[in-house]
Amino acid sequence: MPETRRLLLLYTGGTIGMRASAAGYVPAPGALQELLRGLPTFHDPSMPLFTTPVFPSGARIRYDLRTYEPLIDSSWMNLADHERIARDVYEAYDAYDGFVVLHGTDTMAYTAASLSFMLEGLGKPVILTGSQIPITLQRNDATDNLLGAMMVAAERAVPEVCVWFANRLLRGNRARKLDTDGLDAFQSPNAPPLAQGGVDIRLDAAQVLPMPTGPLRLRAGACPEVVSLRLFPGIDARVVRNVVAPPARAVVIEAFGSGNAPDNRPELVDALAEASARGAVLVVCTQCVAGTVNRRYASSSGLARAGAVSGGDLTPEAALMKLSWLLGQGLSPDEVRAAVGTSLRGEITEAASTRWSLDDPRFAAAIARVLGAPDPGAPVDGLRAALLPSLLGAAATHGDVAALRLLLSAAGAVNLADADGRTALHRAAAAGHLEVVHALLKAGADPFVLDQRGRSSLTEAYERGHAAIIDALVAAGASVRADDLDLALRGAARRGSAEATRALLDAGADPSAADTLGRTALHLAGLAGCAETWALLVDGGADLTRTDRFGQTAEQLAASVGHRLGRNGPAKS
Ligand code: ASP
Repeated sequence: MPETRRLLLLYTGGTIGMRASAAGYVPAPGALQELLRGLPTFHDPSMPLFTTPVFPSGARIRYDLRTYEPLIDSSWMNLADHERIARDVYEAYDAYDGFVVLHGTDTMAYTAASLSFMLEGLGKPVILTGSQIPITLQRNDATDNLLGAMMVAAERAVPEVCVWFANRLLRGNRARKLDTDGLDAFQSPNAPPLAQGGVDIRLDAAQVLPMPTGPLRLRAGACPEVVSLRLFPGIDARVVRNVVAPPARAVVIEAFGSGNAPDNRPELVDALAEASARGAVLVVCTQCVAGTVNRRYASSSGLARAGAVSGGDLTPEAALMKLSWLLGQGLSPDEVRAAVGTSLRGEITEAASTRWSLDDPRFAAAIARVLGAPDPGAPVDGLRAALLPSLLGAAATHGDVAALRLLLSAAGAVNLADADGRTALHRAAAAGHLEVVHALLKAGADPFVLDQRGRSSLTEAYERGHAAIIDALVAAGASVRADDLDLALRGAARRGSAEATRALLDAGADPSAADTLGRTALHLAGLAGCAETWALLVDGGADLTRTDRFGQTAEQLAASVGHRLGRNGPAKS
């Protein structure tokens, strides 16, 4: 007796089962079922309904076809539809060896990504497929796609959500529809196919995720308040401001090349920074079809300054669905930011595990040893100049005094600045590492160095309310410039830090001093929606009537992003 594998086919709609009409392809309920029943490849008439003939592998497939009502074009799909598919798989999980989802091609990549997140601990194949030409037409790609998907799903070898299309098996959350016309419509530019169909279907087992150890869990819940923002030369900051305003809770920024942006435009960076300070999660992806986001160019630093995190080599489709899912799981903005770069279902190549990072203090220590080694004639000087500022900064940020000492002796200089003009002292002051600040000052660090945005180490310390560091810097001769304090106050307000705001007001910062957009600390507190900071500033004499360059008072600006803050303070919507 040949072995029988059980499959569930979930037929959601899409071209695959449509028929031609005068108005173009239209859904044809019942047509697919009728057709499959009559095709010997899909049904052996001597067997119970929907049993295939025996395959060369020696097994046959017995399948159930569940047709969704109504059948839909995938461009109509929403997150509830994704949940419905995930739930159908979950509820039928024990009864079948694998699942095939027949789906329109237009949004197949989104559904695949969404399903991959919702089905945690998946141990059986869930294969999405569709076609460019309906199965009801004589010449079509539907028959091959469907048959291939069923064969892969029946093999039990791939515990993943995948897309099978034109003889390629792609990880679902890496797949993209890249061709509206070609039969070879899908690719996964940043991940090799898991299997290829030639004379045989060859599985590349090394690429497949390991079998899970726990049971399948349905993790439904997705948040629709995510948006994608594609940058282009000359993009208007006001438009950006509207896109990233509430209700947006997460934004996928499709940046240029390896994550670059026009960060020579402060109004643009400010719009993003304000969204980020308000709690919106900003994730940088690339507009390029292949490759990853990295910090190779200084022009990527504006996005980092605005609080955006790297989306690495996530596709924009997977990034949107991942953010939607993470937020739907009730994670805080910081938790979402931290999870973006972590591979949950093979959707992203984790940077730290595959690449050396200048932010990794272990790397800093290792390279310091190399650079510090006296090796006359070695091309160390160029390397020193290129690497040391970032390495010093990384050690300072991480509070790694040992690495810092090694680097300082290799560098022979302490005031080296990185592409943003920030020295190790800036970074240590910002990160709040008192011991590092002392070590740097002892080594001769200059507390007067200003970065490209005109901020001193003292500004950084004030902005974050690091009192002991403020004292150490002042004791080292750093003087408190009025501008410094005002700048720091705006930073503290934007960050919603009441403690730092209080300290700065006590130190004499002016709550009515404005930035280049005419915004005072009160405007920024309004954007951040922090009632406590707002009340402190109002008590400290902030001018409620003062308008920014767009004619808005702090109260109006706060209201425009959904925060109700008035003269008498904290009514927050
Ligand atoms: N508009 C169709 C859909 O995505 C296209 C297709 O199925 O290929 O449902």
